[in-house]
Amino acid sequence: MALQIYITGKFYDKEDAKISVYDHGLLYGDGVFEGMRSYSGKVFRLKEHLDRLYESARAICLEIPMSKADMEKATYETLQKNSLVDAYIRLIVTRGAGSLGLDPNKTSDPQVIIIADSISLYPAEFYDKGLKIITASTIRNHPAALSPRIKSLNYLNNIMAKIEGLQAGCIEALMLNHKGEVAECTGDNIFIVKSGVLMTPPKDAGILEGITRNAILDLAKELGIIAFEQTMTRHDLFVADECFLTGSAAEVIPVVTIDGRPVGGGAVGPVTRQLLDAFKKLVHSK
Ligand code: PMP
Repeated sequence: MALQIYITGKFYDKEDAKISVYDHGLLYGDGVFEGMRSYSGKVFRLKEHLDRLYESARAICLEIPMSKADMEKATYETLQKNSLVDAYIRLIVTRGAGSLGLDPNKTSDPQVIIIADSISLYPAEFYDKGLKIITASTIRNHPAALSPRIKSLNYLNNIMAKIEGLQAGCIEALMLNHKGEVAECTGDNIFIVKSGVLMTPPKDAGILEGITRNAILDLAKELGIIAFEQTMTRHDLFVADECFLTGSAAEVIPVVTIDGRPVGGGAVGPVTRQLLDAFKKLVHSK
């Protein structure tokens, strides 16, 4: 059976799952989304994802035409329809079809799309041997232009950074903020370990406040690893002992080279391994 996609209350075969070409989500990237995973049939931190989705929508004056409870129900229905238990789930809410102008008041019927499928962000080998990344010259959105805390359908600057990475032979790239501080990678948050201490850029460094990031900070606390938010520059990364990235799609992935400099000994470090294992355990726990 074809993959079943949820669009605003109905299910469609993947090839018939379509929305209007006049939808402002397509015309202007006017909409919001979430990416999350289910493990053994349970969506990891669903409440946090729904809260972020509805907050992103609120920030762009987009009223999601269903309650969080109904969105949760529709998410599980989409999983069940596709007999999926371990899946990547994409929630999308667009502004809806309108006229060929920016005015959101001329749109109607925001579309809610739920896709449950698989995703492989990085080849499996990189989870063992680690990623090589470079710093992109494209910076993260200036917070005065568009808050990076909004998970909007506008990912063009992240895509530009991703292209820079790919052109340099790296499948991931680091993005700085407008002050030149470390923000995050194109779709993942970043952590470093220095002298046994875990650090990640603060929320106001121009990042998306990742749900996996927060799960790692919780795990560190449970494991007795000292962890805090710290403003950092590329220098802090160059002299770090360990580095890794986190995201719902990526999960936890080590970084072993940054701008040609090996991180620590150039191999995956012990704190990264410990957190990677603890994260696996956490997501698979009942
Ligand atoms: N930063 C950006 C820019 C992202 O798009 C994402 C999600 N892919 C993340 C960080 C990680 O967030 P989360 O752990 O909530 O998936």
